[in-house]
Amino acid sequence: MASTKSYAAQSATTPLAPWTLDRRAPKPHDVQIDILYCGVCHSDLHFARNEWGNTIFPVVPGHEIVGRVSAVGNHVSKFKVGDIAGIGCLVDSCRDCDNCKEGLEQYCTGGAVFSYNGMEKDGSGLTFGGYSKMILCHEDFVLRISNKQPLEAVAPLLCAGITTYSPLRHWKVSAGQKVGILGLGGLGHMAVKLAVSMGAEVTMLSHTASKATDAKRLGAHKFVLTSDPEQVKTVANYFDFILDTVSAEHDYNFYLGMLTTSGTMVCVGVPPPAPPVAAFNLIFQRRSLAGSLIGGIPETQEMLDYCAEHNIVSDVEVIAMKDINAAYERMLKGDVRYRFVIDMATL
Ligand code: NAP
Ligand code: ZN
Ligand code: ZN
Repeated sequence: MASTKSYAAQSATTPLAPWTLDRRAPKPHDVQIDILYCGVCHSDLHFARNEWGNTIFPVVPGHEIVGRVSAVGNHVSKFKVGDIAGIGCLVDSCRDCDNCKEGLEQYCTGGAVFSYNGMEKDGSGLTFGGYSKMILCHEDFVLRISNKQPLEAVAPLLCAGITTYSPLRHWKVSAGQKVGILGLGGLGHMAVKLAVSMGAEVTMLSHTASKATDAKRLGAHKFVLTSDPEQVKTVANYFDFILDTVSAEHDYNFYLGMLTTSGTMVCVGVPPPAPPVAAFNLIFQRRSLAGSLIGGIPETQEMLDYCAEHNIVSDVEVIAMKDINAAYERMLKGDVRYRFVIDMATL
């Protein structure tokens, strides 16, 4: 056992505060990472405040983890001490179901183990995430990280990057398609960069007028302020594909109307109250409404390699660990351009 400094929420209504947790000693296939940076995902906030009703406290959030390998079990072949490596949202799965065999561990029918608020497969206890000094898991769930990009800006790729990359690939977004990205936050800004890199015509759909300049800088071809009816009219029946990254309650029907015939809207944002959807909005133009959860390990590695090749990273604001509660408040106000990343040297 290694006692490990962390920041935890002890209940839905208490701020995150220092906490010491016990990590297991490395098992034969474990890779142990001293964490350098951990991104701050809106899911961390949803969990810390139990907004989805499934948090087990205390919770140590954080699933955008980059660090240096500090120990390896004696059967580890893919990593050695000193390597830079990453851990995202997954730390284990059954490895035996059809989804696991296809590299879709996030949809493991035997139950994927998430980096925090998850139960270890051997029943030994809960998982605790990256707001901590050190983490370890089986080498199969550890990602290789390019040394050519700034590590703090790579960390958010482990969730925001893969969560947007995976649906863009699955629904085969490509040149000539009209794509709408809904919500310019951590996920949204990665979605813009990735969809542009895949050749699509990208429109940013945002409820924040002041983000128009940034949207263009990130590569978006158009910006539509969703509170302006005149601007919204220009995208009626327009998009082949919409990626919805909004974290708060919003009207799905309003955005479904922006899809062209046979268009698809994919939800990755998870607003705590489930929004109602009118069947008419789907039926009359044969539209599809779908969802997508992060991405499996092979696709996460593919995305990291793709981002290294295309020089894509996250726009980050590095913060100290003690400022996490203030960062959550700023995230709720949309005051982050576009991902907070914790410098773990400050813990
Ligand atoms: P974020 O950085 O806070 O961004 C959310 C964006 O949503 C905001 O920047 C804002 O964009 C928009 N928004 C916020 N409140 C709104 C409102 N009331 N009406 C309309 N738009 C609003 O959050 P994030 O880290 O990108 O995460 C986004 C969501 O994805 C969260 O719910 C998170 O839990 C979820 N998530 C899902 C997965 C998955 O696997 N499916 C993975 C990671 C995260 P504008 O100012 O541009 O409107
Ligand atoms: Zn996340
Ligand atoms: Zn499985």
